[in-house]
Amino acid sequence: MKGGKLIIFSAPSGSGKTTIVQHLLKQKKLNLDFSISATSREPRKGENHGQDYYYISLKQFKQHIKNNDFLEWEEVYRDNFYGTLKTEIERIWAKGKNVIFDIDVVGGLRIKKKFPAQTLSVFVKPPSVDELKIRLKKRKTESDEKINMRIAKASVELATAPQFDFIIENIDLNIALKEAEVLVANYIKKSNE
Ligand code: 5GP
Repeated sequence: MKGGKLIIFSAPSGSGKTTIVQHLLKQKKLNLDFSISATSREPRKGENHGQDYYYISLKQFKQHIKNNDFLEWEEVYRDNFYGTLKTEIERIWAKGKNVIFDIDVVGGLRIKKKFPAQTLSVFVKPPSVDELKIRLKKRKTESDEKINMRIAKASVELATAPQFDFIIENIDLNIALKEAEVLVANYIKKSNE
């Protein structure tokens, strides 16, 4: 099914995009399936292989790069590689579903460029970089060093927002969830007409 849609949610770490993507996946009418990325980072507590990510070694990751298996890949943070395997999109399209991505800004824009006619790209904007820091600290999934690395990258990522089709400001999560739902529903409806 080459007509399947690609829905991209990109944002700095801690902006709430994963929460938004998980919410959208629960909306059956959107017919979405999650693009499970491959990563060389360690699983966090509660994360599962083949559900949140395909956790692979750095060596395996580099072999996939050599084999040209990725649609896109990035060293998002130093020594932490993330990438979308081409087989992942084929797997989801074969089921007749639309693909939703939780992916960094560079990867998101790269996919939009490859499939401009069937991709909706959405940037999730946090209220401020300070708020982002507070959220990341609250989440307690990263060390202080890693939080600082993610914050340092956030300003660069925020500057790419205008290149996306839409920007959702995540100030009030419930409003952001509703906005995302309407945006994706309209996009899928419009492109099926
Ligand atoms: P985390 O370690 O917090 O799960 O993810 C770190 C960043 O990598 C997030 O911005 C996430 O969206 C991004 N990411 C996840 N999968 C991919 C992917 O396949 N490609 C790219 N380019 N970024 C990804």
